[in-house]
Amino acid sequence: MSNPFENAMSQLNKAAKIMNLDKDVHEVLKQPERVLTVSIPVKMDNGEIKIFTGYRSQYNNTLGPYKGGIRYHWNVTLDEVKALSFWMMVKCATVNIPMGGGKGGIIVNPKELSIGELERMSRTYIQKIWRDIGSDKDVPAPDVYTTPQIMAWMRDEYEKLVGHADPGVITGKPIEQGGSEGRGFSTAQGGVYCVRELAKKMNMKPEETTVAIQGFGNAGSFMAKLLYNMGYKIVAVSDSQGGVFYDEHGLDPDKVEEIKKTGSPLACYCLGNACSLSEVPHEGPCKHITNEDLLELDVDILVPAALENQITAENAGNIKARAIVELANGPTTPEADEILKEKGIIIVPDVLANAGGVTVSYFEWDQNVKGEHWTEVDVLQKLEKIMVDAFNEVWDTKEKYGIDMRTAAFVKAIERVAQGLKKTLS
Ligand code: GLU
Repeated sequence: MSNPFENAMSQLNKAAKIMNLDKDVHEVLKQPERVLTVSIPVKMDNGEIKIFTGYRSQYNNTLGPYKGGIRYHWNVTLDEVKALSFWMMVKCATVNIPMGGGKGGIIVNPKELSIGELERMSRTYIQKIWRDIGSDKDVPAPDVYTTPQIMAWMRDEYEKLVGHADPGVITGKPIEQGGSEGRGFSTAQGGVYCVRELAKKMNMKPEETTVAIQGFGNAGSFMAKLLYNMGYKIVAVSDSQGGVFYDEHGLDPDKVEEIKKTGSPLACYCLGNACSLSEVPHEGPCKHITNEDLLELDVDILVPAALENQITAENAGNIKARAIVELANGPTTPEADEILKEKGIIIVPDVLANAGGVTVSYFEWDQNVKGEHWTEVDVLQKLEKIMVDAFNEVWDTKEKYGIDMRTAAFVKAIERVAQGLKKTLS
């Protein structure tokens, strides 16, 4: 498995070369400004104390407070958190919002914890890092397997410790506790704006465009629903339990969700000769595919919406999609990038495609700091402008220099960070 931080650094080096990045700035950007590693003792329901390990990586705050989610996952590593915090820096700068890059994580399988254990772990994590966060310092948010409820516990714990209200210390909160309208589906919504712009460039019409989505969490499931409602043909989705839904005639994501709720995750989702999920009744056997097959389907748009390192040197050669829209962070390795570029496959990179989440997080923070609450219409209008502008800026940079969209996004983003950073180096 390739190391995400090494991948991130190789992306940085590639962009640095093309833009002729200042040597000192380049050196500074090769590591996070600060990394916290904390041990988190939690009283489990059986009375025993279990120690979890947590991280917070504060990569760079040149453009604003460190910003980025907290991930709960059994495979969290320090290098993963460092990479994710670096990507957050690039992401915020790509869409030009005044935030820096940060990320946190705890090595845990949250599905194995009771609600009480989850709350105690989340609060204890904040007890360990509270001195280094705050609305003007570092603003966490949700990421893989963390929820608005967890954000609410964390905000509450933080405010108890500092002794005053600071709703902007964390974003992705429940709406009634200072959250923003639209934050729940904003990652997917930002991805949808990218798909729409991409479709214009590539002359794709929704009804004729097939889409496969890997991952059915917050980003993937909303993406499937939003694209389906716009008329795109969602032919495959998969979830983290290895369940794959495939129908070349198109799936209704709401039905997929329904079946996921009631059926066993590994069950066969097709009945007899006709797929039970199909919108279009058809004859002939349903094909059963694996998660790996999903990535290699002959579709127009492939959306990785799960974890890092899914498209690698091993499978990149078999990818048949015309375009990849990265809702996950770091799904494509640098080696795979090269292979896909050779094949002429367009990649809308994570730092652009999934930036809708952090953009609405920034709106949430802004509303909290100003004591405002914006309507969903307002939020989406502002999000659309930011995403469309960023998409076109990245696209034009790609065209101008004949580079891929990831490198183009990095060049624009690092230009912005470098401008501010240079002034602080004496
Ligand atoms: N975890 C999300 C991301 O990777 C959102 C971060 C945030 O809202 O700060 O972009």
